[in-house]
Amino acid sequence: MGYSALLETAGRVNDFLNAGSILSWDARTMMPKGGAASRAKQLSTLAVAARDLLCSDEMRRNLDAADTETASLPEDSPERAIIAQLREAIDYHDRIPTELLRRKTELGSTAHEIWADARADADFARFAPALEEMVAINREMAHAIGFADHPYDALMYRFEPGTTTAQLRDLFATLRAGMQPLVRAIAEKEQPRSDFLYRDFPADAQMRFALQMAEAIGYDTSRGRLDLTVHPFEISFTRNDVRITTRVSRNYMPMSLFGALHEAGHALYEQNIDPDYTRTPLATDLISLYAVGGVSFGAHESQSRLWENHVGRSVAFWGNHFGALRDAFPDQLADVSAEEFHAAVNRARPSLIRVEADELTYDFHVMLRVDLESRMIDGSLDVADLPEAWNAGMKSMLGVDVPDDAQGVLQDVHWSSGQIGTFCNYTIGNIMAAQLFDTATTQDAGIATALEAADYTPLRDWLSDKVCRHGRRHARDELLRRATGRTLDPQPYLRYLTDKYSALYGLARA
Ligand code: ZN
Repeated sequence: MGYSALLETAGRVNDFLNAGSILSWDARTMMPKGGAASRAKQLSTLAVAARDLLCSDEMRRNLDAADTETASLPEDSPERAIIAQLREAIDYHDRIPTELLRRKTELGSTAHEIWADARADADFARFAPALEEMVAINREMAHAIGFADHPYDALMYRFEPGTTTAQLRDLFATLRAGMQPLVRAIAEKEQPRSDFLYRDFPADAQMRFALQMAEAIGYDTSRGRLDLTVHPFEISFTRNDVRITTRVSRNYMPMSLFGALHEAGHALYEQNIDPDYTRTPLATDLISLYAVGGVSFGAHESQSRLWENHVGRSVAFWGNHFGALRDAFPDQLADVSAEEFHAAVNRARPSLIRVEADELTYDFHVMLRVDLESRMIDGSLDVADLPEAWNAGMKSMLGVDVPDDAQGVLQDVHWSSGQIGTFCNYTIGNIMAAQLFDTATTQDAGIATALEAADYTPLRDWLSDKVCRHGRRHARDELLRRATGRTLDPQPYLRYLTDKYSALYGLARA
């Protein structure tokens, strides 16, 4: 009775979260503006119901009974992993006082409006008091959650469990040393032609082609669908209904295409989770209270970046699919070759805005944010000094001058809504993607050969076996160790970037 009753209660938590996800999908794709206020209330009701049931006496009683019943099973069995994760999640939520959570949520909505106005006028001073309060609340959160070394570690725990500020400092120093010479060398080189990317591409045809490519890599539309949105995302309501979205700019076609490939990569993670884990904590993040199955946000990002960049921006991919792209857009691409298209969608150059940054310079935007966030949280950087620190960081890392706060310190939505500690996921995802892709293609020569022939099944099967099917069963570094023989290692990523950009820009190899 114990373990099956536990699964049933956990399943109900999962149902609340999935119902919330459907409301959230609707809000971000279909809902008219007028629905916003009542939808926010509905979403918050479901999140509170999920948290209450998770931390309920019923759940705790079931846990104790299930513990006894499964005591003889190995610690890494799915049953023991489920019990451990439920206990960990309850412990996490128990530590955060309801009153603190309420203050954070309330400040999140007022600060968001202040931020939007401040950004419109490029006026950081107007946002500074709200941000100061948000930093103070997050510091309180960190102390409530607890940490061994640095308060920022506690804030990252929700997104990238086990990652520490000290680890990131070392990791980022290694990345910068490897990447900065590439950025500098490219600055001296002529950029490839890219005029054709900005021609007029009808939106409907863009959506059709984006879906065609998502399906080509294995996104299963009998268990998913693609819709239009403003900020692309993937969202799942169990592995059997995993939806993706992309955005379209009529005059910049790569946005819809690579947005869809990226989100399809996320979706492949969810669609390939072991069916036995459905409605269990191995397919739901009970710490973040999101219905996602990936073991960390960085691990999830590794799948989207792998499919978007290692596959979708490769020479082989466009050798195979450029014909179909030109069939979809015969007039726009009449004077363009597959090689020119590949070079254009891989251009790299330092820029101001994170969400528009290319593959090579993106991580610098992340490193800057992690550095500033962690220093605000530990008190070594005053909010008042943030714009100056931001601008100095952009200058020293990417050599760009920030003209105003809207294009600088005010560009991201995260701080206004109280999300601190999540930027590292993107870079960890990039590192993991390269590590996994490198292992897959060296371990099994058939995977690389198949990619040359536009056969994505062997790679997808390898990733499903090593990563996706496990859901949240193994911690991130344990998952990596099982898949690649070692924990997070930046070297394959640096090799990949060096090889790729040396070939693209004809750089002399060191
Ligand atoms: Zn992503």
